[in-house]
Amino acid sequence: MSYDTQPAASHFIDGAYVEDTDGTPFEVIYPATGETIATLHAATPAIIDRALTAAKRAQKSWAAMTGTERGRVLRRAADMMRERNHDLSVLETWDTGKPYQETSVVDATSGADALEYFGGMAATLTGEHIQLGENWVYTRREPLGVCVGIGAWNYPTQIACWKGAPALACGNAMIFKPSETTPLCALKVAEILHEAGLPAGLYNVVQGMGDVGSALVTDPRVDKVSLTGSVPTGRKVYAAAAEGIKHVTMELGGKSPLILFEDADIENAVGGAILGNFYSSGQVCSNGTRVFVHRDIKEIFLERLSERLGNAVIGDPMDPETSFGPMVSERQMNIVLGYIEKGKAEGARLVTGGRRLDREGYYLEPTVFADVTDDMVIAREEIFGPVMAVLDFEDEAEVMARANDTEFGLAAGVFTRDLARGHRVAAGFEAGTCYINTYNDAPVEAPFGGSKNSGVGRENSKAAIEHYSQLKSVFVRMDDVEAPF
Ligand code: NAD
Repeated sequence: MSYDTQPAASHFIDGAYVEDTDGTPFEVIYPATGETIATLHAATPAIIDRALTAAKRAQKSWAAMTGTERGRVLRRAADMMRERNHDLSVLETWDTGKPYQETSVVDATSGADALEYFGGMAATLTGEHIQLGENWVYTRREPLGVCVGIGAWNYPTQIACWKGAPALACGNAMIFKPSETTPLCALKVAEILHEAGLPAGLYNVVQGMGDVGSALVTDPRVDKVSLTGSVPTGRKVYAAAAEGIKHVTMELGGKSPLILFEDADIENAVGGAILGNFYSSGQVCSNGTRVFVHRDIKEIFLERLSERLGNAVIGDPMDPETSFGPMVSERQMNIVLGYIEKGKAEGARLVTGGRRLDREGYYLEPTVFADVTDDMVIAREEIFGPVMAVLDFEDEAEVMARANDTEFGLAAGVFTRDLARGHRVAAGFEAGTCYINTYNDAPVEAPFGGSKNSGVGRENSKAAIEHYSQLKSVFVRMDDVEAPF
């Protein structure tokens, strides 16, 4: 079988594809079959240096352009991404194994939304004027300089754009290191940005494992680091960035609660729980994997959930009818299988699923455990796979305390017909991104991010601008300077 998935070269630096075969080779595996679809080389120190040098050189003149000029490039890139949605979606499916049914409506489109949104915003970025009697201060909103983006493997196109778009809008240069598991899509983002008119050196992609990420984070030429990844990686990257007093955005993991009250619309609650556990085969950071179901609706919930899971079309991710694909890698599949065994051993009731599918590729069944208790490992640790833990509850105060009893704080959701309760519960959640009668929406207009161990900073929306720019205060005196001597 031949693929057109092998990129022209491993890296994209200073406006062009670049290869260095001295770098450690690594393979890109198609998760639906286990076949190798590309071989890339991890960045050598020479490649990392080349990317940093290009970014540092290009950033100043990009920052000197007007916001309108910068924004025009981003908006052109957004249009190109939409025009090429089909090809980009197919590549996202090769990279991740997620069904085309998902990638064709979520990945390049969400990346394009970010480019369009921040492209439109670039011209509106201003400082302010502060009058102090006859004297005054004005603030300049300035870029940070060279930003490093480090991606996870679940949304490679989206993450490349969610970090790149606000960084570029604010006048920074970006060096993006994709996850070594899904390295292909970010290269296309770089290609499109440059075709859209981005000057060379402003969006560079370098490949590699954690050591390449670490070399970027610790380089003194880097001013900001934005990571999407797990909490343990976040701890390391945050600490390394702190050494150089660098700005950070940390988008980390979660074990988010989803509370279904007895008055919830059952079909919507089941739909929310499906979206919050099985979309992208459960490989979504904000998933509501601790599903607290009121005792009065537990049996009907489990019944309807099992029935609807029976409608999942599991198979070839390229088939537009397929709605549930494989895990991203054999490694991730085995991690999830390990958690399923733990769940069984801890005494949770396996309602449905729990097995690897008897076919090529890394397919797991959508899995639901009921009678899960708060202390079980499957209720405490992020699994990052299609495993839902259903926990029972009886009253609001009790469930709120249990929902918040976690080190994580990425997302949380509630289904109820009682609006006052919905808002009260949302206010009580210790989480950055909350949902009432819906789950896992992530429009570019709204801030996205976590509290507690799930992260620092926010992506998307006007809030992201604060994390990719800084204010300079300029004091201006109109009268004489008073000095003591
Ligand atoms: P990971 O933490 O293993 O890796 C993330 C990235 O960090 C990779 O590119 C990796 O190469 C790099 N990395 C690893 N060690 C590093 C180091 N010492 N210095 C610099 N970079 C280093 O995460 P993953 O397995 O790729 O992704 C899954 C995790 O990401 C889950 O925990 C998930 O919840 C989280 N995630 C969070 C969000 C969010 O927005 N909050 C979104 C998607 C995924």
